[in-house]
Formats: sequence, C-alpha cells, structure tokens
Amino acid sequence: MSCVGAQRLSSLLSLSSPSSVSRLRSRAARTKTARSAMPPTRASAGDNVLCRAVAEDKPGRTPLITLEGGRQMSYVKCSCSKCRGLVMCGDKQLLPSAVTPQHYDLSLAPDLEAFTYTGVCTVQLLVSEPCDAITFHAKDLAISAGVLVDAAGVERTNPGGPDVLYGEEKQETATVALSAPLTAADIGTVVTLRLEFTGELNDKMAGFYRSAYPAPDGSGETRYLAVTQFEPTDARRCFPCWDEPALKATFGMTLTVPDDRVALSNMPEKAVVKDAAGGKKTVTFETTPVMSTYLLAFCVGEFDHIEDTTPEGVTVRCWTPVGKSEQGRFALDTAVGSLSFFGEYFDNAYPLPKMDMIAVPDFSAGAMENWGLVVYRASLMLFEEGKTPTNAKQSIGYVVGHELAHQWFGNLVTMEWWSQLWLNEGFATWVGWRAMDHLYPEWKVWSQFLTNEQSMGLGLDSLRSSHPVEVPIQSAGQVNEIFDAISYSKGSCVIRMLEAHLGEETFRAGMRAYVARHAYGNAGTTDLWQALSEVSGQDVAGLMSCWTSQTGYPILSVAAHEAEGTVTVTQRRYLASGPASLTEEEASAQWKVPLGAFGLPGVLDTPEATFPLPPHAAGTALKLNVGQTGFYRTVYDDASRAALKVALPTMEEVDRVGLVSDAFACGAAGYAETTAALELLSAYADAGEESYVVWSEIASGLGGLVSAFFEQPEEVVAGLRGLGAELFAPLVERLGWEGVAGEDYQTTRLRQLAVSRSLAFEHPAAVAEARRRYDLYLGGDIAAMPADIKGAVFASALRQGGAAELAQLQTLYAAAESQLEESLLLGAMGAGRDATTILAALEFNMTDAVRKQDGGAIVGAASGSRVGRRVVWDWVRANWDGVDAKFGGGGVSSGLTRVIGASCGGLASEEDAAAIEAFYVPKEIEGAARTVSQAAEAVRARAARLERDAAPVAVWLTK
Ligand SMILES: [Zn+2]
Repeated sequence: MSCVGAQRLSSLLSLSSPSSVSRLRSRAARTKTARSAMPPTRASAGDNVLCRAVAEDKPGRTPLITLEGGRQMSYVKCSCSKCRGLVMCGDKQLLPSAVTPQHYDLSLAPDLEAFTYTGVCTVQLLVSEPCDAITFHAKDLAISAGVLVDAAGVERTNPGGPDVLYGEEKQETATVALSAPLTAADIGTVVTLRLEFTGELNDKMAGFYRSAYPAPDGSGETRYLAVTQFEPTDARRCFPCWDEPALKATFGMTLTVPDDRVALSNMPEKAVVKDAAGGKKTVTFETTPVMSTYLLAFCVGEFDHIEDTTPEGVTVRCWTPVGKSEQGRFALDTAVGSLSFFGEYFDNAYPLPKMDMIAVPDFSAGAMENWGLVVYRASLMLFEEGKTPTNAKQSIGYVVGHELAHQWFGNLVTMEWWSQLWLNEGFATWVGWRAMDHLYPEWKVWSQFLTNEQSMGLGLDSLRSSHPVEVPIQSAGQVNEIFDAISYSKGSCVIRMLEAHLGEETFRAGMRAYVARHAYGNAGTTDLWQALSEVSGQDVAGLMSCWTSQTGYPILSVAAHEAEGTVTVTQRRYLASGPASLTEEEASAQWKVPLGAFGLPGVLDTPEATFPLPPHAAGTALKLNVGQTGFYRTVYDDASRAALKVALPTMEEVDRVGLVSDAFACGAAGYAETTAALELLSAYADAGEESYVVWSEIASGLGGLVSAFFEQPEEVVAGLRGLGAELFAPLVERLGWEGVAGEDYQTTRLRQLAVSRSLAFEHPAAVAEARRRYDLYLGGDIAAMPADIKGAVFASALRQGGAAELAQLQTLYAAAESQLEESLLLGAMGAGRDATTILAALEFNMTDAVRKQDGGAIVGAASGSRVGRRVVWDWVRANWDGVDAKFGGGGVSSGLTRVIGASCGGLASEEDAAAIEAFYVPKEIEGAARTVSQAAEAVRARAARLERDAAPVAVWLTK
C-alpha cells in the first residue's frame, strides 16, 4: 500500500491493547504444535518484548541471537511450519492448518442501491491433517449455507446444515462443523467447500465498500460505485477466506452487475453473459496466478478510460470519472515506463496480461497495489496541466512507481507474515524512488529522498515507542499500526544504505536472484539477505540484523585531535528525549555503521574507534556519511563544525542537506546546541544556497523549532517568524511568483517552497501580494493564482482574515472540480489564527461536505498553528463521540488515527503528555495504540527540549 498522505499524516505508535491479545486464541493453542504451551504474551513499548518473554519462559528452547558486543537479540527461532527459520513468529494468530486453500471461485452480486451483496464462494482445500471442523476468516458476513464435499463427491457436512459457528468478534473467524470428520485417509486429497453468504457494501473504505459520486449525466443525482480494499486483513470482510499472506491460491472471479456499469478485477474479462430483461450482466474473469487474498480486487462503477501498451506488450489502462479520461494521461505514461523499468530491473517480466489503474472518490490510503488492478485516491492519479501543482504531480509519479514496484515486491514475492511488512513497503518505497530517478531525472529524487523518507524514518525511530523494522505481529488489529514511517521510510533507508555498501550492480543481482527464487511464493528477510550474501560474498545478515531487528539508530560523535593527527568516532543510540535519558541497556546498543568518509575504514562496529586523521585539501573538511546514504545522525566537535561551515560551498547538495538536518536534529534532542544549528543558517544564505532540497530541509528544521516554541512569549515567537521570513523572502524576490516557460524543475519547486514559507512566516510584502492575488482570483482572474501557490495563498488569506474568508473558501470548495482542489481548500481552511475561525472550520469538517478520507486535512492544518493546537485538542476531546462515529471503523490508514495524531502530537508539556494518555489509552482504539504512545513520547521530548532550548534560543534571537 502506498502512503503519500496516509503515511505522512498518520501513525505514531506502541502498546498493543491487552484485551485484544488475551482474548485471542493462537494457532498454537488450537493445533497442538510444538508451540502449544506458549502462554499468551503481549508486545509493549521497547523492542521485541514478545519474543523475549517467550525466550525467558522457555529457556533452552528458543535461542537468543548474540550480536557483536555481547548484546542479545530476542528473536524466536520459530518451529512453525510457515516460518522456516528466524522470524518473529511468536504467538501470531493463525488459522488451523488442517486444510489449506488451493483455488477459490468467487461470485458476487452487489446491489448498488441497497448497499448489500450476495455471494457464493467455492474453495478447493488440500487436506493435510485430520479435522472435524473447517475454520476460516469471516467478518461482518452472514453465512447461509456451507457444504463440504470430499474428493469422492461425498458430503461431509450435516445435510440438514449448515452448522456454522462464528468465532469471538476479534477472532474474525467462522467454523463449519463436519458431521463426518476428515480422517488420515483424506490427507493429500482436495475437498470442496461451498459457502453462500450476504454482506454489506459498507462506507468504511475497507472490504467491499461503496463510494459516492455525482451522476455523469449532470442530473445532480448521487450514485454509488463499489470497490475493494483488502490489505491487510479485510478480504475477510468481503468473503469467507483464509486471509493470511502465506496462504496463496488462485482465484476465479465472477461479478453480476448492472448492464451499464464497468466491472474490473485483477485479470482480464473472460466472458460476459447479459440478462437483458433484468438489466444485468454477469462478467467472468480469467483465473489469477497463485496469490495472497489481500491482493484480490474488483470494482463496479461508471468510468472512462485511456489505454496504452508497454514495449513488452502489456495493456495498461487508466480508469477515471466519466469525462476525465485525459487526466489519467500522466499516470498512464508513468505506468508504462515503470512496468518496463521494473521488468528490466528485476529481470522478470510483468506476468499478467494487463494492468488497470483506477481513481476512486473515497479511498483511505494513498493507493493499493492489487495485482493487475491498482486503486488510487483520485488526487494521486489524476493530473491536469496548469491546474495540478508541481509537487502533486511528483507525488502522482512516485505513487504510481511505488504501486507498480509492488507487482514484483509484494505480489509476485510476498512476505511470509505481517511482521515482515517492511519487505513489501520498504522495498516498494526504495525502488519506487529508483524508478522515478530513471523516468524523471530532472526531479533529482535522491536528494528529495533525504527530506522525505530519511527525515520521516529518523524522526519516528528517535522514539522509544518506535519498533524494529521486523516487528512481532500477532493479530489483525496490530497490522494496521505498522503501515508507518518505520516500515516504509526506515525500511527504504536501510535498503539504500545496503545498496550503497554493496554497490548498485551487486545489489541488483541479489534482487534478481531473490525474485527468481521466490516468485509466486513467500519469503522473509533472511531469504533476501541470503540472496544478497550469495552474490556479494559478504555476510549481509551479519551486517544488517542490527538495523532491522533493533529499534532506533545511532548518532556518531566526531572529535578531531589535530595535534595528534587523529579523529575519534563514537556511537550511541539517538533518542529524541536526549542522551541523558538513555538507560543502561539503551546505552549499550550498537550498530554496524558505514562511516561513509573518505580515508576512514568502511564500517564502525565498535562503540568507539580512533583513526589517523585523513588528509584533506584546504577549504574542505572531514564529513561522515558522505552522500547521506547512512541511516544515522552525526554530531561534530566545535572545531570540526567550524571547518564544515567554511567548507559548505565545496560540498555536494546531499551533504549540505545532511549537515543542516543533523544540526537541527542534534539541537532538538540535546546532542548539541540548537543555536549552533541557527548559526549555520547564515552560512547557507551567505553562500547563496539555491538548492530546493537544502532550503526544504532548512524549512523543516526551523519549522520544528517554531512548532516546539508555540507557547513561548510573543517576542520569541515573533523573533523566529522574523528569522524565517528573512531567509525565505529574498528567494521570493529573486524568483518571483510565477514560473517562466522552460525553467528548471528545481527552480519551480524552490519558488513553491519560498512562497509558502514566506507566507507562513508572515513576511509583510508576501502577505500583501498573496492578498492581492486572492482578491483578483475571487474576482474571476484565474491566472492570478498559479497552481503551485494556490494552497499557500488560500491559507494566508484566511490566516490574515477570518469568517468572511472561511465562507469564501467553503464556497470555492463546493464548486471545486477536482479532489486535489478540495484538498488544497480543506488544508487552507484549517489555517485560521483565532479560535472562532478555527472552531468554525472544525465544525465544517464534521459535515457531510467533507469526505471521510479527508478527515485529517482540516484537523492537521489547524493543529499546526499557534492558537489552533490547543483549540483542536480541546475540541476533539469535547466532540469525541462525533469524531469517532464519523472517522472510526475503517481498516488500514483509518482517518481516525490521523485525527488522533493531529489532535495532540504537537503539544509540548508533561501535563499534555499525561492528558493524552489519560484520554486515549482507556479507549483502547483498535489500531491507534502506537499513535497514542508515540504522540505522548514526542510531546515529552518537546517539553524536554523547551527546558534546554527556551532560554538560549531567546537570547540568540535578540542578538
Ligand atoms: Zn506500498
């Protein structure tokens, strides 16, 4: 699943709800495997508690892995048949393994007006153990018939049946009892289970759900389409199935739908039978390759499309709302290029005959990589020249690349279990960027990778309530919590680090070997390291396990001793709460860190090492992590930092990004002074810095400081605003407000950034120009408002205005012609500066005018402002029932989780952290526990920062 939007807005994380775990029975408890004696255990803050608990309970049976330096990792050597070695299987909730699905025939007939459907699911099951009941996943389904027939055609269920027993609510299972049990004689045969059922086309954006759209005939009527979102565990909301990623099968889909609607599924249409009298048609699709349930997809609605063919002969179609097919052109071109690129990169051609991509009006995440039928949020697929901002166009390109990368990494080779989700998402993220670098080199995506993935990964992983890349996952509810910056961003960063270490060619050879070996199967992290070790001749698992199996990352301290001609580098864990807060155990954590510095050895694998100071030319300085491919922070002693400041103009763009990024991060967490980061800014400005990416990182470092200082005295806040305005306004003066034909892509992005920052920092001339353009636009002069600055100008107008501007934005919202325009307007609506305007925007968020998928937009924007932060927190608590009713209940990327994160994540005192826990923890909101504990921890870290920084920064600002 992709995550532009979803990932960035959501998911800070930790404690799994005790009740959700203890009520669940494990596969072990039910099937009497070697693990059946394991007690129910539960994950909690910190790393790998689940597995450690198991190991301590059963000494001698579950060996710990001893890392370099004596630290023991608490991974379970799992004995279950699915894990094949070292994975964190632990006590995961699996179905009984007596039968496993080989093939499904699934027929569904949705009623797009009553929002229900009827279904028949016939499953071929391979028998591997005797059993007297068949248990499978089912959620919110009513099963009316269940008949099991053995290989000889004899019914084994009660002919008077069905004897269906539903599991406890959180188990999400149903069981069909057998009146004549399957015995040893049936082992190795295939039996057939036929189930009839009904379900609801829900409005939760999970399972088989409905999505509203205006009738294309302009009648003003609201119509509904039906579409699926199954990842991670919502296939079971649609049909009875074995909903685990390792239980792959083939699928034959049949849909009975209104005659005038488009019906799509993973595979091409095989046959259409029309029922003219009933106004219906029954569409049968070709059988899929063997695949996991979460990748099955189908869709029924009214769409237009455009199509193209890859050089390899794959048909690619983009489906859009009626009349908007040309808006799919950019996504279509990117898809054609990406499919070819990946086929070559993995040396494995795309295996399906077609690729459909479809934009739907209501979609929870960013997009979903269903094999052969990728579903997108409309704003991440539809592009209009001149109307779509440049950054949004790049997001579309990236998301298409990410989803299509999954066709190999995820769909063809699938993770064994959700604890290995990072294999899907980290790789799709990384290789998605690689595809963009190939297709659109002018975007310079690897520099942007730093300000996107790396900064998000480093940010979340600086919290104790983060989690290892490979994380124990027991139940369905926990899976939703890890579609976060660890799985996606840290995952992609450690892959990039490894690629830099092994070399591009070697790494690609390893990828190819891995995909070839595990195609149509499941694999785990160890399988990948195995393939990479074989091609590189290096111990990849030995190098990487510290990065994937323990939470956090190191900060390297550099101390140069010029007199002795040496440099000492030490490593310790970086925590947002600062070095003083490290416990003994945390302080002993070690990593194998690629130093990335000319003249120094490749990897630091000890707590401290001293090297001869490498010679360097005058005007240059020793910098670690050259190229910024390493996932860690660096802090320098005063002399080294001064030398780096002087050397700034000689550095590459990515290193200039890294230097300022580390400086602000070290200031924020107390590894260095924040004033040292502020001192650095003038050096960038004086050097005439022109890089969009560098300025973007500066904006984010300064933004973090402004955010933490939101309740500091007015003169301090004004001082920071002034500093920001001083940095960004000259860029606007130089670049102007409108693009010039044929200009460099980076210039376009820099202008967009400079205008939005100048307005956010309230530079008077910028604010006045924004207002002038806003008035012209309202007066009908569309050209006064270039797409790239629209959102920032709307927000500035509201920030400097009030009720009248909010009403104007709401009018524009009602008339908006695209979802992207709607998103820009919703974001702007949250920019009010007084409580009255902010509250009015929050009330608007609760009306039916705002789609559930967009529920976080106003809340997120409002909580970003100085006054809004407390207004939002008070409002969410006071209106909790309404918020929960509107945004709760969905699957992955639930809007509710985003609202929760935005409601409190920006606060900055110990009292706030306690209030967050007191309010949210007792609610035991499924899928939000990590968000809550991470928010509270981030708030505490910010409070500690204020203790350290408030006084010195205030003094610095008055200098
Ligand atoms: Zn993804």
